[in-house]
Amino acid sequence: MRKIYLDYSATTPVKKEVVEEMLPYFTENFGNASSIHGFGQDAKRALEKARAQIAATIAAPADTVYFTAGGSESDNWAIKGVMRANKAKGNHMITCKIEHHAVLHTCQALEKEGVEVTYLDVDSDGMISLEALKAAIRPTTVLISIMFINNEIGTMQPIQDIAQIAHESGVLFHTDAVQAYGNVKIDVSAMGIDLMSVSSHKIYGPKGVGALYIKKGIKIQNLIEGGAQEKKRRAGTENVAGIMGFAKAAQIAHDSLEAHVEKLVTLRERLLKGILESVDYVKHNGHPTLRHPGNVNVCFEFIEGEALLLSLNAKGIGGSSGSACTSGSLDPSHVLLAIGLPHEIAHGSLRLTIGDFTTEEDVDYTIEALKEVVQKLRMMSPLYDRIQGGK
Ligand SMILES: *Cc1c(COP(=O)(O)O)cnc(C)c1O
Repeated sequence: MRKIYLDYSATTPVKKEVVEEMLPYFTENFGNASSIHGFGQDAKRALEKARAQIAATIAAPADTVYFTAGGSESDNWAIKGVMRANKAKGNHMITCKIEHHAVLHTCQALEKEGVEVTYLDVDSDGMISLEALKAAIRPTTVLISIMFINNEIGTMQPIQDIAQIAHESGVLFHTDAVQAYGNVKIDVSAMGIDLMSVSSHKIYGPKGVGALYIKKGIKIQNLIEGGAQEKKRRAGTENVAGIMGFAKAAQIAHDSLEAHVEKLVTLRERLLKGILESVDYVKHNGHPTLRHPGNVNVCFEFIEGEALLLSLNAKGIGGSSGSACTSGSLDPSHVLLAIGLPHEIAHGSLRLTIGDFTTEEDVDYTIEALKEVVQKLRMMSPLYDRIQGGK
């Protein structure tokens, strides 16, 4: 059976060059980067080279990049760290309803500490309103945290405008750029970003590594306490092999950005067109143009997303649904509800995300498979039956 991976927004395979870059750091150059001896200093040198490489991909000075254990930790650190360190200024922050749970659940945890959080609505394309953002700012607002690109529907927010609005009021701006990094050109200073979360495993690097960009001079508390690593700001023996892989992946992504985006957009449009032409009662979600290059998110009416995923899986296709199946609840995705979809439509959602190893044949096979599977599932839907009968 063919095996087609269309879930690149969940994670990506590690590229061979990345694995090769990492290998010596497990066996030969295995030193603890904090050690004085040569083994340690070799590791330290590699670590600082990786830091400079990653910083260069976002046009930041090397000493503003801090390594973490991934996007979730970076989000937690940015938001908790800034809110806890700036209590003298205020206890209010602004985010939006379609953030990743790494942001939303962090905000909910902070609410228990007395932080007040405004969750901005989004429109039917998943865009926040800049007017609503301005109106939500209070004298006590410390931080605005708005994601760069949404992981479910692919919508890209106007990051520069948000940063400008934040700075006009003396508010800090954090963005979860986990889905944007490697898919969009990012210049943190030109864009006015104060803090930015990125993750390695979404850009063909290893899992469990990420980074937080912290602009110089920002007041932020530590999240992980312990040793003096990362200039005493993030304790824990550095994951040197992982970080070397991350830097290699970041370098490749940066050097091949244009070709990567062009390839993904072409395949994305082919997939979307194919779906819209071969299936009826389907709705395309997310912004029509300002979106992730490889994201297709659609809702099929009269179908249960979980059933659709399982049927596709039986044909070797790995996609994702928006619903929170992992939590064991039947609630549809908070993102799809926030863009105004009724529960029954949100339940029939499918996210297919394309990446560097996706081929035209994969896309065409998927369109055919979807056509067949959707038809089969709808035959079991009494509602669809009634609507067809009425035609
Ligand atoms: C994957 C993802 C995260 C979490 O990153 P991890 O490295 O898996 O912890 C956070 N935000 C967004 C938008 C993501 O897509």
